Amino acid sequence: MFRFLKHNKKTTLRFLGAARNVTGSRHMLEVDGARVLVDCGLYQERHFKDRNWDPFTVPPSSINSVLLTHAHLDHCGFLPKLVKEGFTGKIYCTDATAEITKIILLDSAHIQEEDAAYKAKRHKKQGRAGPYPEQPLYTVADVEACFPLFSTLSYKSCVSVADNIEACFYDAGHVLGSSIIKVTVTEDGQKRIILFTGDIGRPGRPIVEDPASFDQADYVVVESTYGDRIHQPTEDIKNAVAHTINKTIEKGGKIIIPSFALERSQEVLYYLNDLMLNNKIPQIKVFLDSPMAARITTVFRQHPELFDKKMSELIKNHESPFEFAQLNIVQSTEESKSLNALPGPFIIIAGSGMCTGGRVKHHLVNNISDPKNTIMFVGYQAVGTLGRTIVDGEKRVRILGEKRDIRADIVRIHGFSSHADKKELLEWLKKLKACPRHIFVVHGEEQSALAFGKLVSEQIGCKTTVPEFGQSVILD
Ligand SMILES: [Zn+2]
Repeated sequence: MFRFLKHNKKTTLRFLGAARNVTGSRHMLEVDGARVLVDCGLYQERHFKDRNWDPFTVPPSSINSVLLTHAHLDHCGFLPKLVKEGFTGKIYCTDATAEITKIILLDSAHIQEEDAAYKAKRHKKQGRAGPYPEQPLYTVADVEACFPLFSTLSYKSCVSVADNIEACFYDAGHVLGSSIIKVTVTEDGQKRIILFTGDIGRPGRPIVEDPASFDQADYVVVESTYGDRIHQPTEDIKNAVAHTINKTIEKGGKIIIPSFALERSQEVLYYLNDLMLNNKIPQIKVFLDSPMAARITTVFRQHPELFDKKMSELIKNHESPFEFAQLNIVQSTEESKSLNALPGPFIIIAGSGMCTGGRVKHHLVNNISDPKNTIMFVGYQAVGTLGRTIVDGEKRVRILGEKRDIRADIVRIHGFSSHADKKELLEWLKKLKACPRHIFVVHGEEQSALAFGKLVSEQIGCKTTVPEFGQSVILD
């Protein structure tokens, strides 16, 4: 059993983020004065962003080490601030996670520096001050200061991260390098296993392996992003993509795909290559026009050992989705601009995924008002983003300061998700031969986390809690 008590001598777990919300994953384990932080994510929901500016719950210098599940910003994006404020321990993760995290953190620092400069300019013009200093949360230099702290290990290997705390990494099947971390704590000669799922992927998805499963644990900290939903099957995705592309080709139009740089862009390449290999769509030029997606794709190419069987076969047969004949990786801005003059049909994959920045905005300006073209959305569009406004059916939108008529086809492909849905999460938990002493449901919007917690209690009868932000529990 665990008790909701403040007590320092026992093993304690504190939920410092992604507790009844999705972002800012930070779980702190304390054993005999040693502190280990599992994930160190950035808060990204507008109404929780304040927490990024709050002083860390404990002095960062008192944390022994960080265990990083994967490279998404809501899991790694607070690391530079932690280091800036005194953390000097090691950051343990897989090699691919370390490489991708570096790319993502550098991009995050650039955006924060730009935002701070823009805000300072705007506030000056308006003669007012904002709620926070017009400074970036961290800079490129702060990010670079984290690099020497990374200590990498491969799947199924373990490391001692503090006295009496061992961590082992297993494939989470979510994005390249993502891990489920099994932490073993030894206290008074007794061992306790705590599983931190990070984000869990879906079985049968392309490129990465299926998530590892476990038959035993004392405690489980499980995500619940889609804890109240079921995804569409993969086969539907392929058909929908092929249909959209063929229809646009018939009209002689261009297909613009706003896409996230990590995993989604590589998955889109996978499907396009697959559809061409199987003659479901004609041979058509594909432009990957996102410098960050291009850098991340390079990391994918360098880690064939992490691919699933089907992907490994493609590599062996020289049919890699990252190197097919029609694929063009766009590098310079000039090259990107030159696509405007090129007659269709062809496909452009560009960031950002929700059209909030990046090169996709220019492609929208040039293509969204032509009925021959299609804008194909392959990811979640948050409220308040340009992407959301477009998929919600507006007829005229402001892009880069000017109003544009939407005449292109707007298509949404559902089912592209790197998170297990509620059924898949439940199946994953069911692999445990006996109920853990307790299951903690995190990393989901409140209604999703609560719904999933209820489902777990009802369907598998294990004790389950959806912890509150800042809640501390004793694991004994
Ligand atoms: Zn993730």
